[in-house]
Amino acid sequence: MVQTISPLPSVDALLRTPETALLLTRFGRPAVTAAFRDILSARRTAGTFGGQPAEVIGQAADHLAVRFARSQRPVFNMTGTVLHTNLGRSPMPPEAAEAAAEAMRNATTLEYDLETGQRGERDTHISRLLCDLTGAEAATVVNNNAAAVMLVLNTLALGKEVPVSRGELIEIGGAFRVPDIMSRSGAILKEVGTTNRTHARDYKDAIGPATGALMRVHQANYAIVGFTAMVPAATLSGIAHDAGIPLIDDLGSGSLVDLERWGLPHEPTPRESLEAGADVVTFSGDKLFGGPQAGLIVGRGNVIAALNRNPLKRALRLDKGRLAALEVVLRMYLDPDRLAERVPALRLLTRSESDIRTTAERIRGALAARWPDRTVTVEPCRSQIGSGALPVDLLVSSAVTIEGKGLENITKFLRSLPRPVIGRVARGQIILDCRCLESGDEDAFIAQLSGTGDTG
Ligand SMILES: *Cc1c(COP(=O)(O)O)cnc(C)c1O
Repeated sequence: MVQTISPLPSVDALLRTPETALLLTRFGRPAVTAAFRDILSARRTAGTFGGQPAEVIGQAADHLAVRFARSQRPVFNMTGTVLHTNLGRSPMPPEAAEAAAEAMRNATTLEYDLETGQRGERDTHISRLLCDLTGAEAATVVNNNAAAVMLVLNTLALGKEVPVSRGELIEIGGAFRVPDIMSRSGAILKEVGTTNRTHARDYKDAIGPATGALMRVHQANYAIVGFTAMVPAATLSGIAHDAGIPLIDDLGSGSLVDLERWGLPHEPTPRESLEAGADVVTFSGDKLFGGPQAGLIVGRGNVIAALNRNPLKRALRLDKGRLAALEVVLRMYLDPDRLAERVPALRLLTRSESDIRTTAERIRGALAARWPDRTVTVEPCRSQIGSGALPVDLLVSSAVTIEGKGLENITKFLRSLPRPVIGRVARGQIILDCRCLESGDEDAFIAQLSGTGDTG
């Protein structure tokens, strides 16, 4: 059999060329070699022989650039949903992000007590602060609120029944469904009441020797309106305590401060829940609290101690970076007067309509210049808090809208920018809600628009 000799350059020859040297320093020998092999074999399969070395090297450089590009990248969130789960929920205060980075780069006092020189507890960095801020006896923290609910149920109600109102059997999106979490935690869900109405007697009737706890779940991302009845936390805690069992309250967003101070609708606080008699309250770190992803748990000393003794706690614990960030954000809450400036989630949520409009007007020109044949206008719109908080109350905001043909191409272009722009499309318009584009970011937004590229 006669072997066809390929005029393609060999991998070895390519690796020896001076042009490859740069690729080798940037990407390393194994990746560069693999890129050459892939390209040469694709060319052989396609029958495209005779590639010049420079051409193959150029193609390899493109492949490697794509392969080594960071997959998770910052974007401009112009969806109008401030705490957008798919876009990473709350942005963190820079001081918190710096504390996290510093902790991650260094050895720290994570579990080391400087006073005694002995082993310490990682939760001590945040538990005192959480207690001060909520009035709780004790506090602990895990990976996220789903983990918090799981740990609490597994600790207090393993193999036992937990009555929950049918009006609170929620799905948060992703894979958080109350019934599923309950069954995985080892607790047995006992549905009580109806979708729209649940009464005190429903809970009382459901309690028996097999009951481990009562649970309340904040109706996070929906509202039941009309002919409704829910049992207030204070009544529920009375029922639980009469039966000698604890009340668990999953608040979801759980703002640490009353949002009404900034004219936002009321969201239940952990302090209120504890005052109403809940024995343990869970909420997220990256929703209205405005910090890192975490599941914050506050409550009675004996309950928190039991959570900390559960081996699952170890599996669900927080790393030192997020603990460092959490500590910084918690300390910001000691000074509520400056919270709206310092915690970006709250700053964005409380941003004035006129300020947002100013941003919209500033960036409108750049968008209109980019797409002169489309209608680009500033229009009032409504933003959402997101992550299930206060689903019915929409915040007045301003958007730049783009109308005309081929909106697909424009959204695609916006997503292809170095810092992708994520908006939404509705009623034949692209809507770019400007609430989360702060004035410090306007220049970067405009600059990347005026770059070259397929303009759609
Ligand atoms: C968001 C939410 C959860 C899940 O919290 P994560 O932090 O996303 O794990 C659980 N319960 C309620 C009521 C929520 O709103």
